[in-house]
Amino acid sequence: MPAKVLVHICCGPCAVYPVKVLRERGHEVMGLFFNPNIHPLKEYLHRLDSARRAAQVLGVRIIGSDRDYDPQMFLRLTAFREEHRCFLCHQLRLERTRTMARQAGFDYFTTTLLYSRRQKHDMIRSVGESLTGKKTAFLYHDFRQGWVQGREEAAEMGLYRQSYCGCIYSEFERFRGELDRL
Ligand code: SF4
Repeated sequence: MPAKVLVHICCGPCAVYPVKVLRERGHEVMGLFFNPNIHPLKEYLHRLDSARRAAQVLGVRIIGSDRDYDPQMFLRLTAFREEHRCFLCHQLRLERTRTMARQAGFDYFTTTLLYSRRQKHDMIRSVGESLTGKKTAFLYHDFRQGWVQGREEAAEMGLYRQSYCGCIYSEFERFRGELDRL
């Protein structure tokens, strides 16, 4: 019997390779787009749209509410603890994924964050493993092996590719050089 896996999806391009691998392994896959860290709203909508388009092409259903975007949740969690924000960000998203997976009777939960070469891979793995449970376990896989393949396929699908990690802090770090050109 195939295992049921709920995959936290951070964006469309990151979903392509992990979803393919999980299905090739015979798993029954569903996606969850839960990313209150993304700033601003327009960026959130671009990534949500790209995740939906990827899911449509891959033939995967995304569960969760269309309106489940609450940036205050992320900002309140990280205020005055900005140096730990990535750990808190991963924990927030993976905890929600684990909870929804458990409630809906999935065997495993995992995340497309494990695909990115730019993310803190070991931290994501450790957060996921700390949330693992008897009925709903964390499924670890180093999806970075498919980095090139996933990027090429995402480009062929015409998926929107973001230029910064997601939160307001990462957007500032990515573009702060523009201040020097003023
Ligand atoms: S840099 Fe990325 S992982 Fe870290 S808090 Fe911001 S959005 Fe989350």
